[in-house]
Amino acid sequence: MCNKIRVRFAPSPTGFLHVGGLRTALFNYLFAQKNNGEFILRIEDTDRKRYVSGALENLISTLKAIGLTYDEGPDIGGPFAPYVQSERTGLYKKYAQKLLDSGNAYYCFCSEERLEKLREERRERKLSLMYDGKCRNLSKKEIEEKLEKNAPYVIRLKFPKEGKTVFYDKVREKVEVENNLVEDQILIKADGFPTYHLANVIDDHLMKITHIIRGEEWLSSTPKHIFLYQAFGWELPKFVHLPLLLNPDKSKLSKRQGDVAVESYLEKGYLPEALLNFIALLGWHAADDREIYSLQELEKVFSIKRITKSGAVFDFEKLNWMNGHYLRNLGLKYVAEKAKPFFENAGFDISNKKKYLKVVSMGRKRISNLSEIIAQTEMFYKDLKFSNEEKEIISDENSQKIYLLWIEEISKLQDLSNEDIGNLLKKTSEILSVRGKELYFPIRIALYGKCHGPDLPMIIDILGKDEVVKRLKNLLSV
Ligand code: GLU
Repeated sequence: MCNKIRVRFAPSPTGFLHVGGLRTALFNYLFAQKNNGEFILRIEDTDRKRYVSGALENLISTLKAIGLTYDEGPDIGGPFAPYVQSERTGLYKKYAQKLLDSGNAYYCFCSEERLEKLREERRERKLSLMYDGKCRNLSKKEIEEKLEKNAPYVIRLKFPKEGKTVFYDKVREKVEVENNLVEDQILIKADGFPTYHLANVIDDHLMKITHIIRGEEWLSSTPKHIFLYQAFGWELPKFVHLPLLLNPDKSKLSKRQGDVAVESYLEKGYLPEALLNFIALLGWHAADDREIYSLQELEKVFSIKRITKSGAVFDFEKLNWMNGHYLRNLGLKYVAEKAKPFFENAGFDISNKKKYLKVVSMGRKRISNLSEIIAQTEMFYKDLKFSNEEKEIISDENSQKIYLLWIEEISKLQDLSNEDIGNLLKKTSEILSVRGKELYFPIRIALYGKCHGPDLPMIIDILGKDEVVKRLKNLLSV
């Protein structure tokens, strides 16, 4: 019988969730869902120099906000707890010792100064900056003496110098790497903490991970990992390296060309549904190239076979388009709920629920993220301010006549249906001989604060009779 599929998202918490990290998490999640497997969250925080306090909590809350659930993880536990590597450090030393005993790792006593000098020399000779293997063949006696003197050391992988490592990746297919290009990786650092490479392999094995789905930047480290699996006599997992994420100009995705933190997209009012849908298409596409997918639909159609080799462009315009699509098509109440913080931050009183829903219904058609909804709808919640040009239109004789007529006529109307407003516009045009801009601009400015904008009946419906009359009266004395 096949083992149950188990995959993991193993971020090193650096303070925020990168969109590339979310793509890795999502593909792992989808693969697990599709195959009735398990999805694990494991925190790889053994690099204490990069430690950021609060990063773990932030990561977990972002995954929650976006709606990616995991079966095992730091906050929910599971059969292989703990899921935070800094809580598992004792374990890694034991395995490092096994590697020393079997001759697959060695003590390295080279000082930081020597290593820096070595790097400098290699840099000048335009060679790769790898370690030269000075301590690879120290005698047992030399090692013992140094250890006795408490000389600081690291433990390095004794990677073969000849031959090549050949492995299969489900995206890149056959990969071959010359062994002499692979460094003797540090496994245990001078501070006693393991490096990512050692801890990652040990945990993947102990946690029974069957498929390693991660970003392509880890492809070049895979020979080291394979060597470790073999040295321990462990079965290899399957490897799946996801294509790089690129800026629109095809350079590696970077902060400089746009936001890369998932949190900032959520803060700007990108909906989780849109983000997940957009991210799912970064390096994967369905058989029919359809674009709009809910998470549940993705769970059914996702397949590793359709992951592409070439880099995936993070197209901000496409994200805007997709978010706009979701804003317009998801349930109004849901979108209104998501929009609430933006209105509250703007200090608007949205306690009139009926009005608020109408406002969101109108606003959501004109935006690509929720942070833009305020600029589109604030005129329904605050006193209008006019530019000099608008003031001129307001004080025009014709405009004043329109306002007077409307105050009188609107007060007589029962409800303000589209038809009523249509008739009133017609009547105004006939009585005052005004048409087009001369008719619409003064009214739209009076009620909405701008010449252009939504249809008048819609604006009037949102404001309600009393507010319409109040806004018109306000302008009579201008
Ligand atoms: N901790 C690594 C990272 O931050 C995980 C790489 C892997 O999935 O093996 O990306």
